[in-house]
Amino acid sequence: MVSPGNEQNVNKRVCTKATNELSFDIELLADMTKDQLLKQARIFATQARNFQKLYNDAKQALEAEKQKLQQYKIAFAEKAFAALTSTARPQAGSYAAVVRGGRDENIPARSTLVVKIDQTDRDQPIDTKLMDNLLDSKNKGPVAQQVSRKDDKLYVTFADAVESARAQTIMESKAECKAIFKPIGTQVRMYPAIGLYADISDVRELENDIRFRNPCARDTLQKVIVTKRLKNGAGIETGLGHIKLLFNSAAARDRILNQNRMFTEGKAIRVVEVDANREVRRCYKCQKYGHTQQHCSDTVRCGHCAGQHSTGECRSGSKRCINCHGEHASGDRTCPEQVKEVRKYRLRFLE
Ligand SMILES: [Zn+2]
Ligand SMILES: [Zn+2]
Ligand SMILES: [Zn+2]
Repeated sequence: MVSPGNEQNVNKRVCTKATNELSFDIELLADMTKDQLLKQARIFATQARNFQKLYNDAKQALEAEKQKLQQYKIAFAEKAFAALTSTARPQAGSYAAVVRGGRDENIPARSTLVVKIDQTDRDQPIDTKLMDNLLDSKNKGPVAQQVSRKDDKLYVTFADAVESARAQTIMESKAECKAIFKPIGTQVRMYPAIGLYADISDVRELENDIRFRNPCARDTLQKVIVTKRLKNGAGIETGLGHIKLLFNSAAARDRILNQNRMFTEGKAIRVVEVDANREVRRCYKCQKYGHTQQHCSDTVRCGHCAGQHSTGECRSGSKRCINCHGEHASGDRTCPEQVKEVRKYRLRFLE
């Protein structure tokens, strides 16, 4: 143990030494020629670059560890909710769950591992069968449920976050895996719900308060987005609005939907299921599905009559849908294309 007096002496000595070295450096610097200075500067620049690289690598590694931890947290929350709901409802699913399509709310959220493919020109297709071999799935290894590929990325979906984390560990350590690909992250699937008449004067505070006051939202609520700001008769914002709540766990979201409400500082807000018809992404420029107008390179189409003008400029009396050519406006709830998109959305986020 160093006594305070000793410590002071040591500090003084260190300071004196540093000062001496510094004045020596300054003298040296003054004696250097321009060329020598430039050379020294280049050495410093290289050192800085090397340091930057080291720093970036460390940051990346830390990020990967954080993501893994997050996965374990999700898995833990899922298990906890499953245990809770199974003791509360040992028999059939709740009324709300049955109405929403008879989904068993004890099923944990699936987790998708995103993998970058290094070796693209292989004869062997990268499918579930190859994954089974690589992950030793038949012998208690993690089991991939779905494998899909987009360009140089592979999306491997597992039954839950634990399976996906196990797979990630294998992929990062097994030589056979490392030769083909590299995991770059996990897709955390978001499960939405809508909160009505919330105090949105400070959304970040509202988000934190929801986590604070509702145990099932603590580790699972990822984000709160304002979807509608309510105005009074004079058109002035009231500070109240509707919000979209995004959870990383289907079980947590369903539990909150079942209890119909969430607690916030001032009051309980009503929580309802999202309207899939409104959530489906349709482009307001070309009226097609799957992208938004910011990313549209198609021609302008009218949402009322399918003519080549914007919806706002429409003078036509009759309706025509550009997607199915039926006699209704684009995005109509009865349009077969809209119905198809809604079904896709429900499968992804609601069921
Ligand atoms: Zn478009
Ligand atoms: Zn039109
Ligand atoms: Zn249609």
